[in-house]
Amino acid sequence: MLVDSHCHLDFPDYRQDLDEVVIRARNAGVGCILNVSTKISTFEHVLAIAEKYEDVYCTVGIHPHKVKGESPISVAQLINLAIHPKVVGFGETGLDYYHTRSQHNDQKQSFRVHITAARQAGLPVIIHSRDADDDMASILKEEMSLGPFTGLLHCFSSGYSLAALAVRLGLFVSFSGNITFRNAGALGEIVRRLPLHSLLIETDAPFLAPVPRRGQRNEPALVVHTAARVSALKETTMAEVSWVTTHNFLNLFTKIDRIPIIP
Ligand SMILES: [Zn+2]
Ligand SMILES: [Zn+2]
Repeated sequence: MLVDSHCHLDFPDYRQDLDEVVIRARNAGVGCILNVSTKISTFEHVLAIAEKYEDVYCTVGIHPHKVKGESPISVAQLINLAIHPKVVGFGETGLDYYHTRSQHNDQKQSFRVHITAARQAGLPVIIHSRDADDDMASILKEEMSLGPFTGLLHCFSSGYSLAALAVRLGLFVSFSGNITFRNAGALGEIVRRLPLHSLLIETDAPFLAPVPRRGQRNEPALVVHTAARVSALKETTMAEVSWVTTHNFLNLFTKIDRIPIIP
């Protein structure tokens, strides 16, 4: 059994065929899907999808790109929205300096609010980090010293030192379909060097469809290709990668106490 630890099933890409997308994931052995929030203004839809399917859970939060345009959220509001049994974490939040669609300081402020909510509620935070390794490292170190919190760096595309820091701080590192791309040498090396017990896998669907579906719409069933690439890089079996990454996911997302077996 596999888990897709990060996707966006609320995006218009799935408006026509969401039932089929979920069924294809189940048929591919994906036992659990995490539907990740990017805006509070669309959270209701994100949650409705999690409520509709037994094996889909969700998070609540504001993507760094969406900080500009969304009203700022407070720690108390985030924690309140996470009372629902299907809401299992916060995010995605973080820093994205590749496309500076929101001011860096606004991104940092929003990121710290999400971390505080994670610390206070005892739920994990899903962290997006792109071209922001130095600021990300200093915020993670500083916030962890204020009090522990759990979480993961998703769709990892940064340097080895940030990945190693995350692991030292007890965070998980999640890899997406981009590790299957031909030019993914450096990322592959990071997968090789990190311990399997700190890794998660995801699709980040509808983006970043893995080889052999690169360029097409991505969907949770395709997390299988990322798992296969991880097993090749770690020189181990698919069974071990599936078992360990699923176990890691359940250790981190403590509100999910079991994965429903759906025939
Ligand atoms: Zn992201
Ligand atoms: Zn995402």
